[in-house]
Amino acid sequence: MHYGIDVGGTKTEIAIFDRHWQRLDHWREPTPAEDGAALLTLLAAMVAEADRRSGARGTLGLGFPGVIDDRGCLVTANLPGLRDLPLAPALSGRFDRAFVIDNDSRCFIVSETGPGGAAEGATHAFGAILGTGAGGGAIVEGRLLTGAGRFAGEWGHLPLPAAARERYGLPLLDCGCGLEGCLETYIAGPGLVRLHCHFGGESSSAEQWHRALLAHERSARLAHECHLDLLGGALANVVKLLSPQTIVIGGGLSTLDEIVDSLPAALRRHLFAGVDVPMIVRSRFGAASGVRGAAMLGAGLNGERLA
Ligand SMILES: [Zn+2]
Repeated sequence: MHYGIDVGGTKTEIAIFDRHWQRLDHWREPTPAEDGAALLTLLAAMVAEADRRSGARGTLGLGFPGVIDDRGCLVTANLPGLRDLPLAPALSGRFDRAFVIDNDSRCFIVSETGPGGAAEGATHAFGAILGTGAGGGAIVEGRLLTGAGRFAGEWGHLPLPAAARERYGLPLLDCGCGLEGCLETYIAGPGLVRLHCHFGGESSSAEQWHRALLAHERSARLAHECHLDLLGGALANVVKLLSPQTIVIGGGLSTLDEIVDSLPAALRRHLFAGVDVPMIVRSRFGAASGVRGAAMLGAGLNGERLA
């Protein structure tokens, strides 16, 4: 048996998989995001309950939101209770088995290149999650790329090119990471809403922008063209650095055909002549990639053992 846990800012999910990666059981608990000790206790109790339900002692992987820094601490606004707490040592006293931790964006691409995933078997792949933020993770030479500082794949915090900002007259925006002008603030869901407002539209969610686009509103169309140009340029940077054969798109924006179907052409404009645009596919497991990828890391697929 393999267990995967996806710790979110509001809910924490655990899933039990068999050796063929069929999900046998799963459930969720509210996350005590403000209380680190309570969260660690909850995780231990969920694993004990998984042992009871499965009648086994499964391998264990955990995915967390945000970035794990080189002290092993989580950098995220979503789980204030775990701030400045080196995760692996804090967890090792709670579980009676080895485990792997990583961030949810990396769990996503491990899941999507694993058994049954949208890029199953790909040895060079990039996972781009476009939701409230722009997360990412890369598989290179068949292995999950972590990097010396463990923040490899953070494409959302590359800067928007100054030329692109000038072309569209965009403001320089502060990012939650402490930098300014990060791509994430323009290309993730809230960024698309900002672009819509920038071009004179009125929306407070990507769904509202989408409805305006379907209603042929000019501001929504201008925002769409600008967003595709910025997103195409951002993904082209990833292609130039990592040369993936497949890019898997996840997160809320991946459900919109107008974005996903237009991406190959948008990338093409930012790549050298003669360079093929990678295959661009939607995620197969969506939000369930978090538990699945964590479980696969815990089972030793693509991963390294941390604790
Ligand atoms: Zn940033």
